[in-house]
Amino acid sequence: MKKWFAYITLLLTTTYIQSGCAVNQGDIHGINLISIEQEKQLGDKFVSEIEQQHKVYNDVETTAYVERVGRRLLANAREVPFQFTFKVVTDESVNAFAVPGGHLYVHTGLIKAAGSEDELAAVMAHEINHGVARHGTRQMTQQYGYNLVLQLLLGDNPGMLTQLATSLFGTAGSMAYSRGMENQADYLGVETMAKSGYDPNAMVTFFTKLDAISGQKSNQVAQFFSSHPLTSERLTNVKNAIAQLPPLKYNGTQDRKEFSRIKSRIK
Ligand SMILES: [Zn+2]
Repeated sequence: MKKWFAYITLLLTTTYIQSGCAVNQGDIHGINLISIEQEKQLGDKFVSEIEQQHKVYNDVETTAYVERVGRRLLANAREVPFQFTFKVVTDESVNAFAVPGGHLYVHTGLIKAAGSEDELAAVMAHEINHGVARHGTRQMTQQYGYNLVLQLLLGDNPGMLTQLATSLFGTAGSMAYSRGMENQADYLGVETMAKSGYDPNAMVTFFTKLDAISGQKSNQVAQFFSSHPLTSERLTNVKNAIAQLPPLKYNGTQDRKEFSRIKSRIK
C-alpha cells in the first residue's frame, strides 16, 4: 500500500516538475524577483536612455492614434500592472518593442508595413502582453542576474544601463525572450485582439506577409523576426489559439479610414 502511494506521489511530482518547465500560456504571474515598483523605476531609467538613442516621431496625430489602438487593447488585457505609455519612433525597420514598466514603442516602419489597423494591432497586442506578463524583467534577471538589475536600479552602473538600452531596445538589437514567453505573448495577444474587436487572424496574415518579404528587404524586417522567429510551430500555435476563441464579434469598418489617414501622414 505504502509502496503504491510512494510511486503515485513520485509520478505526480515528476509530472508536475516536467510541466513546470513550460510557460503556462494563460498564467501571467511567473516568478519575478523584481517588484512592480522596481520595474517602474527601471523602466523610467531605460526610457531616458532609449529616447536619446531613438528619434521619437513627434507627430501629435500619429502618436494619439497609436495610443488609441494601444488603450483599446489594454482595456481588454488580463491585467494592467503599469500606466502604459505609447510612442512612435522614426525607424524604417518593421518593429515595435516593450520596455519594462509598460512603455511601448512603435516604429514608423511598422505602420508603413501594416495593411490594416488589425495588422498593426496584432504586433502591438503581442508587445503589450510582454509588458502585462512582465517578461522583460523576468528575462533580464534570468539572463544577467538579479544583482545586475539591482545595480541598474541603484544607478551604480550607468555604463551598463546605456549598453543594455542599446542591445535590448536599441537599433543594435532587441530583447531575446524565451520561446515560452514569445508563445505566451502570441496567445494572450490573440485573446486581447479578439476581446477588443480586432480580427486576430491579422496576426497570422501579417506574420506570413512579413516572413515572405523578409527575403527581399531583409534588414527592415529582420529585426522583428530576430527577436520573434517565425516558425511553422509558432504559426500553428497562433492558429490554435484563434480556434479556441468564442465566435468573433468583428467589425473593422470604422478603423479603415482612420488607419489610411495616419498611414498617409507618415509617407
Ligand atoms: Zn515578442
